[in-house]
Amino acid sequence: MIDSNRYAVHSADVVIIGGGVIGCAIAYYLSQQAVGRVLLIERRLIAEGNTTRAAALLTRARAKTCLMPLVRETYQVIAELEDQLGETLGLRRVGSLHVAASPATKYELNELVEVARQAGLEAYWVAPQDAEAMAPWLELDHGAWAAYMPEDAFIDPYVLTHAYARAAQHNGAIIWQTTAVTDILRSGQQIVGVNTELGFVASPIVIDAAGVWAGLLAQQIDCPLPMAPVRSHYWITTSQNGLFHREQPIVILPDARAYTRPEGTGLLFGLREEHVVSVDPRLLSADMNELVLNDDRQGWGTLIDGAPALLPFFPALERLEIAHYIVGLSTYTPDGIFVLGGLPGLKGFLAATGCSGAGIAASGGIGLALAQLATDQPCSFDLEPYRIDRFGLIDPLSEEFRWRCAYTRSKKTSG
Ligand SMILES: Cc1cc2nc3c(=O)[nH]c(=O)nc-3n(C[C@H](O)[C@H](O)[C@H](O)COP(=O)(O)OP(=O)(O)OC[C@H]3O[C@@H](n4cnc5c(N)ncnc54)[C@H](O)[C@@H]3O)c2cc1C
Repeated sequence: MIDSNRYAVHSADVVIIGGGVIGCAIAYYLSQQAVGRVLLIERRLIAEGNTTRAAALLTRARAKTCLMPLVRETYQVIAELEDQLGETLGLRRVGSLHVAASPATKYELNELVEVARQAGLEAYWVAPQDAEAMAPWLELDHGAWAAYMPEDAFIDPYVLTHAYARAAQHNGAIIWQTTAVTDILRSGQQIVGVNTELGFVASPIVIDAAGVWAGLLAQQIDCPLPMAPVRSHYWITTSQNGLFHREQPIVILPDARAYTRPEGTGLLFGLREEHVVSVDPRLLSADMNELVLNDDRQGWGTLIDGAPALLPFFPALERLEIAHYIVGLSTYTPDGIFVLGGLPGLKGFLAATGCSGAGIAASGGIGLALAQLATDQPCSFDLEPYRIDRFGLIDPLSEEFRWRCAYTRSKKTSG
């Protein structure tokens, strides 16, 4: 990714802060419209924040149904980007297998299959032995239920983000890397621009897509963003002959609070812990490689706590070697729904964050929605559930508010 000439720009029509999947998606959609100069500013390198750490499951059917049109848009834009760039983005259309073993999860799975079918997605029940044949490491009781959704996929989030960024640049958007925005500036009720390490950039519209750091920037203009950074992590096993293969489906195991997908010839598996670690964003470094959340640096605590529920489904886990451990942060809200849009009474400021573990999957929809908001066009989606001010007066930096966000994350069991 080559930076645009940084010294030639002192004003823009829209500034986007953050070059993760969200900022780059917004830049791509904006670059397709006649909005003048679009400038994306990233303080490190494109996709170097939490985006590159994502498992990047693009599950289409969601219990929170308002997310589904946003995910649908992501699939559409992937095809569009492939056309525009003349290359494949390596979407892995392996499908997803959803397993339920308890009455509560069977009820939820039944609902999810209904939701999928009503949205016109393919979803069908499979017998436990057929599910085991699809994922040879999986063991199911005769009474377990399994549903297969063949259209689901995952993608390399780094590749997707760079595709958004390159296509945006190709359409005329300007990208600065290794340049931090230090302040968002307002004059009364109107945004006027940003200060950066290279000086002031005037702009009537600023979009804050700075991921877990977004809230700190927004605080400067008295706009509390209702979200908090929480830990997400997963492990990747070494390869095992016959047990794992590249074409096996994503597997969602709510009874074990786990998900898996193929990663090379190994298996990537994530566990949602009951006691989620949330972080005070003021303590975060700009470099995710410096992330130290607690003494449990390899996530062994979560693995040991989660193993009793996972082992009945995945008995081979006991004898497997772990090749990699990946940890990062997701931005969570108290209702697990994103934060998209502006604050009434403050003109020119928009935020796109709080992606609650689904930012890659919904990146297309978020990019389209924010581009429409920034250009005063009718929005393709109902953005009411995503309002910034939906929780009333909050202090997002307080321990109590961070606890509310972490609590929601601790209840997440689905894809
Ligand atoms: C372990 C894990 C697994 C996940 N699995 C999935 C999954 O399966 N599916 C899914 O959809 N999502 C998943 N996610 C969530 C997903 O990664 C996020 O929702 C998404 O990456 C958020 O993108 P972002 O652009 O908001 O944030 P980021 O990628 O963090 O980007 C924010 C950018 O802003 C930049 N920035 C910050 N401050 C400034 C500043 N002052 N000036 C300039 N730039 C600045 C940062 O350097 C960074 O590059 C997962 C996350 C984790 C951690």
